[in-house]
Amino acid sequence: MNENKDFLRTIVEEDLKKGKYSEVVTRFPPEPNGFPHIGHAKSICINFGIAKDYKGYCNLRMDDTNPTTEDTKYVEALKDAVEWLGFDWGNSVYYTSDYFPKLYEYAVKLIKMGKAYVDSIDEEQMKELRGTVTQAGQRSEYANRTIQENLELFEKMKNGEFKDGEHVLRAKIDMSAANMKLRDPLLYRIRHSHHFRTGNTWCIYPMYDFAHCLSDYIEGITHSFCTLEFENNREIYDWILDTLELEPPRPYQYEFARLSVNYTVMSKRKLLELVNGKYVSGWDDPRMPTIAGYKRRGYTPESILNFCEQIGIAKANSMVDVAQLEFCIRDDLNQKVPRVMCVLDPLKVTIENYDKDMEIIEASYYPHDVPKEGSRKIPFSKELYIEREDFCENPPKGYYRLTLDQPVRLRHGYIISCKEVIKDKDGNITEIKAHYYPESKSGSDTSGIKVKSAIQWVCAKEAKKVEVRLYDRLYKSEAPENLEDLNPNSLKIIKDALVEPAVIDDKKDERFQFERQGYFYADPIDYSDEHPVFNKIVSLKDSWAK
Ligand code: ATP
Ligand code: MG
Ligand code: MG
Repeated sequence: MNENKDFLRTIVEEDLKKGKYSEVVTRFPPEPNGFPHIGHAKSICINFGIAKDYKGYCNLRMDDTNPTTEDTKYVEALKDAVEWLGFDWGNSVYYTSDYFPKLYEYAVKLIKMGKAYVDSIDEEQMKELRGTVTQAGQRSEYANRTIQENLELFEKMKNGEFKDGEHVLRAKIDMSAANMKLRDPLLYRIRHSHHFRTGNTWCIYPMYDFAHCLSDYIEGITHSFCTLEFENNREIYDWILDTLELEPPRPYQYEFARLSVNYTVMSKRKLLELVNGKYVSGWDDPRMPTIAGYKRRGYTPESILNFCEQIGIAKANSMVDVAQLEFCIRDDLNQKVPRVMCVLDPLKVTIENYDKDMEIIEASYYPHDVPKEGSRKIPFSKELYIEREDFCENPPKGYYRLTLDQPVRLRHGYIISCKEVIKDKDGNITEIKAHYYPESKSGSDTSGIKVKSAIQWVCAKEAKKVEVRLYDRLYKSEAPENLEDLNPNSLKIIKDALVEPAVIDDKKDERFQFERQGYFYADPIDYSDEHPVFNKIVSLKDSWAK
């Protein structure tokens, strides 16, 4: 095992060494009420990753105890995400709802032990009686109900004889505990609503604190990893499992730091608001921090796994720079994808002294430092397009591209110089008349002409028109809170960009580096032969000298 173990792996390793468990069993327990995001990816990497490292297994468990917000489409999205990240949940997905009958039995057992009671005060009173950090709370008058009364009431709750909120089941722990969570926490509440799996079978639903530890126990989980906010819930976790005097071994809870990323919101509630309000095209909008969003944008699973490994596992919360995630995808794609040419904002160039019909230039897909092979054919002819911003009439200092008196190299092709600028009646440049130097062909240049840069171009006749979607950060503020923090320019659509034909005909890959522009991915949903669409995955760190 690796030398720099994190603290969770240290715990697992020691437990295995001591023989506390014969094998490690973890679980990833999302609530199916939204698409998983990059924070979930961290949890998936921890839970599935640790199980894999120590040859145990990890359950994928839907924590479906809240009937009003859950749905099968979220279950599917969760399965997709785990699979896409390359993890294996075994033969079946687990559901907390499958344990409802067992959980009910455990609750009855607690009541019989005098350790749980049905309370009938309203929420307001309950809050008041709970006390404060500095002041002990008080039990409600209903805490004195006999075991028999509690059993009958709880059964009636289950049978649907009461309305929502009329009664709750509470654990009888300690109303003066310093840890406020221990002040008789709720175990069950009444909710008359349809559950996506159990339908109308149940109208009482277990609370997280009751369902979670027992689901872990039922599944034989050994290590239950959760985020730091649950630190104070750990005492309830232990209390329930110990009070029920369950057959050993039992699981234990350990907390790690939640992932926060700047310029990103991760609350499922807020992400749902973006989807419902149509601020994005859906949960898989390429700007969303969801696994489905990253997948559609063109991120690779490897890049997400690398990111999770780089950020590590800590005991204290901190903010991670979104640039680190961008670095991971760029770093991965740099070693993998073919380089091609795309012109986003075409400016016509006519090479007046080119009198052949056309020639084909054979050019490598990869630079020398990428250990991959392959090349494509690029057509070159009299009429080309270059990027509008690669020509400047009145260049600022340090402008190295084409000007009236500065030649430039066409990448993989020839050096050209500008002879004339054609404008429309409003003064907009519509065309450049140029000359090329026949001896300057890339790879066999004997012209002796020095240029300061090379620019991308496409052959006018052979170029293919594509739609390109340029994404920027969804939020403009570093610590976004609400809709006002959205970046109004997070999506720019270019309908008629031009790419060299190999991008479409050769279909070397779905991901490309459009040289000097960034990394791009053929949109897995909207792309068709008639209407090719590319998503910008991430920009390039370094472009060629401008
Ligand atoms: P949200 O607040 O976004 O709804 P949640 O914690 O309620 O998130 P769950 O579906 O309950 O979401 O989470 C499933 C698992 O993923 C939990 O074990 C949780 O700790 C973990 N998880 C969720 N968000 C993060 C995060 N930002 N960083 C690390 N782990 C996370
Ligand atoms: Mg949760
Ligand atoms: Mg939540």
